[in-house]
Amino acid sequence: MRDLSRFKQRLEETRENLKKRLKAIEGEGYQHVGSEEVDIANYMNEMDSLFREKEESEKTLKRVERALKRFEKGTYGLCVDCGKEISEERLEIVPFAERCIECEKKLNKVGRK
Ligand SMILES: [Zn+2]
Repeated sequence: MRDLSRFKQRLEETRENLKKRLKAIEGEGYQHVGSEEVDIANYMNEMDSLFREKEESEKTLKRVERALKRFEKGTYGLCVDCGKEISEERLEIVPFAERCIECEKKLNKVGRK
């Protein structure tokens, strides 16, 4: 058994940071709506990038939460496709990785549906 508890800690931290960031993004959105003198084009641009960041953060948050669930089930660090162990070097870079490098490559080649 590998000791992967340090990744769990990192995932929990990431989850908290993402939640805070998402709250902040929502706060910023409301603030803008409240002000009267706004340059519409600028405002749209800002909202657009905020929206994209929000989407990205939500996506990552979901992956982080799935990874934490896998910790509970004891399947964390195992590839969801082939069941092999995901290398710790890979988990260092992407603690919420769901697939091993080989399966990820195959997936990218076929293309996500
Ligand atoms: Zn795999």
